[in-house]
Amino acid sequence: MIHAWLKSWVLGGLAAAWFSDSAAPAAAGANGAVSPDDAAYAAARNRMVREQLEARDIRDARVLEAMRHVPRHLFVPADLARAAYDDAPLPIGHGQTISQPYIVALMTALARPQPDDRALEIGTGSGYQAAVLSQVVGHVYTIEYVPALAATATQHLAPYTNVTVRQGDGQGGWPEHAPFDVILVTAAPEEVPPALIDQLKPGGRLVIPVGSTTDAQELRLIEKDAQGQVSSTSVIPVRFVPLRRPAVMP
Ligand code: SAH
Repeated sequence: MIHAWLKSWVLGGLAAAWFSDSAAPAAAGANGAVSPDDAAYAAARNRMVREQLEARDIRDARVLEAMRHVPRHLFVPADLARAAYDDAPLPIGHGQTISQPYIVALMTALARPQPDDRALEIGTGSGYQAAVLSQVVGHVYTIEYVPALAATATQHLAPYTNVTVRQGDGQGGWPEHAPFDVILVTAAPEEVPPALIDQLKPGGRLVIPVGSTTDAQELRLIEKDAQGQVSSTSVIPVRFVPLRRPAVMP
């Protein structure tokens, strides 16, 4: 079944209704450290977790806590900050998008993250998915192809000391830090890059959108068992930007 919310990729109507209709508590700490804005964003985040994640099928308590904690509004362009907790992807420049919160949570939960896991992400984009993942694993290595996005993501991720960002083509994975317990790919290739399967630990989980056109992609969970056998499960239809293939592009 194709869930209605997965089809709701409309980027229009970004007016942040939640901001005006949510009770924005002007709570300040004794020293005034919590600004009304921070409190309103925290309220929006809690609501996002309740209505977009818990009300659907996200059950992993550590993933839900990470989604409650990471300030998504700091990862989107400033003029879209007030739409950051909407049930939608948002443009981040250079023709790229930050995924819908539900998709970020779903991919993270499918990977069954453990506190000591070493994780790889291909497609850093804004850095938001890496920040969420950093809350539930030991270390995140993340690769972004577009230099300007890699630079911005490096700034966004400065407070996350267990995340390492690299600019480059992620199709070959990151051999120096392999093998990985978890690999998340947030742009869609036509076929799963073999290097990513090679760099998965026995027992590891790879979550990746695959498809030749934007309209026909599926999110796959690929698992390598203790004996090194690889199995693949199709989870849901999705729409991601294509994974660039710089080596074969003219
Ligand atoms: N995870 C991101 C969203 C990513 S959008 C977030 O949380 O914001 C997909 C990203 O993959 C884009 O930034 C795009 O530039 C990047 N990308 C596409 N092809 C790539 C490649 N071959 N190697 C590394 N990054 C790539």
